[in-house]
Amino acid sequence: MDRRKRIGLVAHDAKKADLLDWVTANRDRLAVHDLWATGTTGAVIAERTGLPVHRLKSGPLGGDQQMGALIADGALDALVFFSDPMSAMPHDVDVKALVRLSTVYNIVLACNRTTADFVIASPLFDAAYAPVETDYTGYLGRALPSRPE
Ligand code: PGA
Repeated sequence: MDRRKRIGLVAHDAKKADLLDWVTANRDRLAVHDLWATGTTGAVIAERTGLPVHRLKSGPLGGDQQMGALIADGALDALVFFSDPMSAMPHDVDVKALVRLSTVYNIVLACNRTTADFVIASPLFDAAYAPVETDYTGYLGRALPSRPE
């Protein structure tokens, strides 16, 4: 099993400096992992740290949904998402969907600096780790209206 993690990075504008600070402080640990980010967040991180970052579209332009699709496809192990709790967002539904999908697929989700610090300090961060998969077969097999004869 691969020890390398696929990590999503998203920060709202008011939190971009915080996320950049966290990535810079943990640059060497993050460098061995595979980084994905929404457009503007990714541009700031790549430019200021030199780390390679797969850049999606800007969050409000669909980047959050692209990140969500990675989660739904099992292509992301962790999401570090520094959201701005003091501003209304035009893409609030996308923000909620991203948090929700992280829960649905049981990936690591750090929504603030302290949690991100704890996550990256965990020995599991660099270990081969297989998350418990939630069994959704009951949901998928639920009773649906039958087709008319
Ligand atoms: P951005 O998107 O990285 O393109 O600014 C972040 C967001 O608001 O979801």
